[in-house]
Amino acid sequence: MTTVSVRVPAKINLCLGVGPVREDGFHPLATVYQAVDLHDELRATVVDSDEITVTTTVDVEDAEAEAALVPEGWDNIAVRAAAALREHAGIEAGIDLAIRKVIPVAGGMAGGSADAAAALVACNDAWGLGYSRHDLEPVAASLGSDVPFLLHGGNAIGGGRGETVSPVLARGSYHWVFAVAAEGLSTAAVYAEFDRLNEGRDVPEPEVPDALLAALRSGDAQALGAALSNDLTEASLSLRPELEATLDVGRQAEALGAIISGSGPTCLFLATDEQHSLDIAIALAGAGGCADVVQSTGPVPGVRFIG
Ligand code: ATP
Repeated sequence: MTTVSVRVPAKINLCLGVGPVREDGFHPLATVYQAVDLHDELRATVVDSDEITVTTTVDVEDAEAEAALVPEGWDNIAVRAAAALREHAGIEAGIDLAIRKVIPVAGGMAGGSADAAAALVACNDAWGLGYSRHDLEPVAASLGSDVPFLLHGGNAIGGGRGETVSPVLARGSYHWVFAVAAEGLSTAAVYAEFDRLNEGRDVPEPEVPDALLAALRSGDAQALGAALSNDLTEASLSLRPELEATLDVGRQAEALGAIISGSGPTCLFLATDEQHSLDIAIALAGAGGCADVVQSTGPVPGVRFIG
C-alpha cells in the first residue's frame, strides 16, 4: 500500500493590505507572506476504493475541543483538495488522509489552507501523477487564497485575493512569538466587520509598503518590526477588544513589532533573538489572556516530504 507523509508550515502576513470589496465578494489583497516553523503533518494512503476519507488528531493542550473544530468528510479542506486534484487529473482513485494538527484552528495562520496544500503534494505523489509544484498552483488557487503560497513557503508577495504569489528577495531568519487565543475567529466574520466599518469610507487599493520590502532585503529585524502592518486590525479588535491587552503585553516586553496575524485572533510578536523571544513568551504566559504561547522562527520551506 502506498503511503506518503508530508509536513506543512503555518503562514503569517508581515503586511496585509486589504482593498474595497470586489463584485465577486472577495477583497483585493497586497500581502507579504512568511512561512513559519509551526507544522501540521499529513499522511496519505492509497486505498482500493474511490473513497476519500480523513481523520484528524490534534497535538495541543485542549486537544479534544480543538479536534471538534476540524470538520470530517467533505467539509474538510484537505478532502476537497484531494478531490480537486483527482478531478484535475481525470483519474478514479481513493485516498485515506490522516492529519496531525499543530497549527491553531481558525487562528489566522492558514491551518486549513496548509492541510489543503499538504494534501495536494501528498496525493500527487501517492497517485504517481508527477505534477510539479508549479503545475499544482491552479488547483491550489481554486481551494483558497493562501494555498498556493504554502506549496512553496519562504517569503512571497501575494496579490489578487492572495492566490497570486511571487518570490521576495529576503535575508535573515526571524524570531517570532505567537499568542494563541482560546477561541478562533471566523475569517468571513472579520471581513464582514471590515466592510461594515469601512462603509462610506474611501478604501484605497492595497499596496505592499516599500519599507517592509527594504527591511527584508537587508535582513534588518528592527526595521521589519516597525514595518509590520495589518489592515484587518480594526475589524479584528472590534470583534475581540481583549486582543489589545495581549498586544500591549508584547509591546511592553519590547517586541520589535506586535500585530494580529491575518484575520486573527492569534497575535504575533517579533523578537531580536531567541532569548528575547523567550522573554516575550514568558511575559505573555504570565499575563494570561491567551490559551497558548508558541515560539517559532521563519522563513521555512513549504510542504516537505517526511519519513
Ligand atoms: P486563514 O488564516 O486562511 O484565514 P484560519 O487559520 O483563520 O484561516 P483555519 O484554521 O484554516 O482558519 O480554519 C477555518 C475553518 O475551516 C475552521 O473553522 C474549520 O471549520 C474549517 N476547516 C476545514 N478544513 C480544515 C482543516 N483541515 N483544518 C482546520 N480547519 C478546517
